[in-house]
Amino acid sequence: MNSTPSFIERLQASLADMQAKGTLKHERAFTGPQQVAVQAAGKELLNFCSNNYLGLADNPEVISAAKSALDKYGFGMASVRFIAGTQEQHLLLEEKIASLLGTQATILFPSCFDANGGVFEALLDESDAVISDSLNHASIIDGIRLCKAKRFRYANRDMADLEVQLQAAKGSRTILIVTDGVFSMDGYLAPLNQICDLAEKYGALVMVDDSHATGFIGETGAGTPEYFRVQDRIDILSGTLGKALGGASGGYISSRHPEIVNLLRQKARPYLFSNSVAPAVVAGTIKALELVSANPQLGRKTMENAKLFRSLMIENGFDILLGEHPIVPVMFSDEHLAVSMAKGLFDRGIYAVAFSYPVVPLGKARIRIQLSASHSDQEIRACVAAFVDARNSQ
Ligand SMILES: *Cc1c(COP(=O)(O)O)cnc(C)c1O
Repeated sequence: MNSTPSFIERLQASLADMQAKGTLKHERAFTGPQQVAVQAAGKELLNFCSNNYLGLADNPEVISAAKSALDKYGFGMASVRFIAGTQEQHLLLEEKIASLLGTQATILFPSCFDANGGVFEALLDESDAVISDSLNHASIIDGIRLCKAKRFRYANRDMADLEVQLQAAKGSRTILIVTDGVFSMDGYLAPLNQICDLAEKYGALVMVDDSHATGFIGETGAGTPEYFRVQDRIDILSGTLGKALGGASGGYISSRHPEIVNLLRQKARPYLFSNSVAPAVVAGTIKALELVSANPQLGRKTMENAKLFRSLMIENGFDILLGEHPIVPVMFSDEHLAVSMAKGLFDRGIYAVAFSYPVVPLGKARIRIQLSASHSDQEIRACVAAFVDARNSQ
């Protein structure tokens, strides 16, 4: 019996259901690079929803470094790292990441999704335990699923609950607490100082995924551990090259314990069985890291832009989630209002996306604005003016 037609019908029903519920996602195709001024649907737009925090995605020096690498190192690696996929520049990039983060060693992965997908299974087994924040990134959730360690979960940033879980995990050989450094839907930072205190009390290790922080949070851009002054207390860091650091692709695990990285090189499955990061991406990212180190004012500009946008929005009576991060959620109690406001912004030349249930809890719909060092004061004011104008037309 051929079951294909009924299977395809089920997929059609599933897609129709998403369409009816308004959760079907549509992609906007830009006609040029990732930058503040973009064109889509024949319209000029100011982009306020990318992870291009430092504006390095179209930086001329980054592009030029990537172009030179095409000539010097070719287009692709056609190999995983340990067979024929390591160029001298892959090792240099790993050193540069460790140097930014103040760690001892770094291992590159094809993406941060892969880094998180491979790290738990390689390091832990059924004798161990992982305690994970309930709002951690999907890749952490999947990575934990792939490993045999006992699983515990604590309510988002809830230190009392973390302590309950630490007590429940007692007796495990190794206990690893894992958290996002910054929670992407709220822009809230994980309280790493308190997490480290609890880890110390219970003899646990701490892992932080700092994808939304590396390059611009902390004085030198070393991320949330630097911000909370706990760099020497974090055991494992993961992060992406696909956001502030040029935004191309690639991820990493970095650690003050070289043994962790050495073991991952032997055992992490996405490292062993997926292709090496492309030469042009490696070279562009090395340049991005050099720019971050040479220009601390770049990260400061991102944070100042966030501050300006936040204060103007509060002045104009919008309900934003408070904080410092360039992720600024503008809250709407009504799901439809959030969607309609995003449409109103689009009509006024501002590109930002509305998130509603089930991506965020019911009644917590929002438009997530993300600031970049590349936004000018004028562009930020234009965005706020569009919010005000769109609200007046609701
Ligand atoms: C973006 C993100 C990832 C995924 O990074 P990729 O390199 O694009 O796979 C993982 N974790 C967190 C917290 C992220 O924000």
